[in-house]
Amino acid sequence: MTGYPSFIPNLVGGADCPAQSGEQVEVLSPHTGAAIGRLSRSGAEDIDRAVASARGAQPAWAATPGVRRGEILHAVANALETHRQELAQIVALEAGKRLPDALGEAGAAVQCARFFAGEGQRLFGRTMTSGTPHRWAMTIRRPCGVAGLITAANTPAPNFAWKVFPALICGNGVVLKPAEDTPASAWFMAKVAEDAGLPSGLLNVVHGLGAEVGPPLTGHADVDVISFTGSTRVGREIAETAGRSLKKVSLELGGKNALVICDDADLDNAVHWAKLASFSNAGQRCAASSRIIVFDEVYDAFVESFVAATRALKLGVEDDCDLGPVINARQLANMIATVERAKAAGARVLTGGGRATEPALREGFYMQPTIIEGVDPAAEISGAELFGPVPVVYRVKGFQEVLALADASPYGLTAAIHTRDVDRALTFAEQVRTGVAVINAGTHGSEPHMPFGGVKASGNGTREPGTEALDVYSELKDIYVNVRPERV
Ligand code: NAD
Repeated sequence: MTGYPSFIPNLVGGADCPAQSGEQVEVLSPHTGAAIGRLSRSGAEDIDRAVASARGAQPAWAATPGVRRGEILHAVANALETHRQELAQIVALEAGKRLPDALGEAGAAVQCARFFAGEGQRLFGRTMTSGTPHRWAMTIRRPCGVAGLITAANTPAPNFAWKVFPALICGNGVVLKPAEDTPASAWFMAKVAEDAGLPSGLLNVVHGLGAEVGPPLTGHADVDVISFTGSTRVGREIAETAGRSLKKVSLELGGKNALVICDDADLDNAVHWAKLASFSNAGQRCAASSRIIVFDEVYDAFVESFVAATRALKLGVEDDCDLGPVINARQLANMIATVERAKAAGARVLTGGGRATEPALREGFYMQPTIIEGVDPAAEISGAELFGPVPVVYRVKGFQEVLALADASPYGLTAAIHTRDVDRALTFAEQVRTGVAVINAGTHGSEPHMPFGGVKASGNGTREPGTEALDVYSELKDIYVNVRPERV
């Protein structure tokens, strides 16, 4: 395939098909603001068909040995690697990214596929001791059945991989509802997977607007597990909808992550990581550094250097650019309005603060890389996730203030600290209330074999990917074997 598809169909039962209503919605390029294609605007009837397809294909897949399922996922990983350039081009167009970044993300998706393919050889339970003589007690993993997966738009290829591959290796059928801003990459990856040998109808993709097509999936009586990556607001809705039918639910939600810079930090390294963690991918990372907490002793030096580095950033999607646009006009308008309210409440904007105005960028959804200071930890901009390039910098008077400020957030996804002091580093890493803590680097950068997830409003306690993702997509079953029944 070359270029961006003019129409992105659903993939149901192994066939491309439009929404049954025939309705479509435009996909806009974040870089230009112009329409680049149209996606199916699906509804409950499309979800019904997709769930029936996944349900129909699942028993044979579940009966396929895990090792064989892994071999098929290895073939899918290889095919995705072969098609990496095409995938990256689609991602770059629909998500508004540099091609090298999109290629890196496609590579990360392949890596994730390989990890879960390998898990097909390790779908183990446990053998326990029994309290009864001549009795064996053990656990095995069984598939949940049908997995309903909903993803965000920020890194479309890894977002697909983090959910689809663990769901498949555990023996489930899948209905995926990708983000409406990045539909083509998910459709393309599912097509590549089918062409590489995934049984037809097992992996279904249904496009559409979240509020319309999401609830029919999350509330569907024949869906057994829901995994969602997106905002905390929608995550709460999903927990309610899915809770009514007592579905298993995994929620990977927002973050407002603290990057701490102590007085003994390597300041060049700290500025390097603050810049990457705040502005790469235009700040659209759940693990972005959006609250930067700096010791008084080094505050002025850090801020001066951070502002200078930020002013030197180049916006655009060419290879030599540092950050692209945000995903859509709604997100851009929200971050600009929040910055304006913060200014009205007394915040100082050290650089940026609004929409990019250069002729080449002004039609796109470009937010200037922005740094804000002079904000109360209780202010709106300290608590609200903006999902854009808008970090706030805070001044603290010593380590005792650090944990309190880092934890003064409704979220608890990731955190990082820059220090040469092992005691401070490990005390922070152990005690900060997050699911991930990093020493001397950015708040982002998770690996596919590690369990990722957050506490508080960042999730509901599950971890994906890593081996722990198998707990989301499989049910443990206890088996008791009475070896000599007459003696029991
Ligand atoms: P969003 O919640 O608006 O949308 C995410 C997905 O949910 C989309 O596919 C959307 O169509 C769908 N959706 C919307 N309403 C729905 C509903 N009522 N029922 C079911 N599905 C619905 O989030 P967004 O703004 O697109 O993405 C950014 C958010 O995702 C941020 O909060 C970010 O932190 C979070 N995120 C979290 C992780 C993580 O692993 N924790 C990773 C990436 C992004």
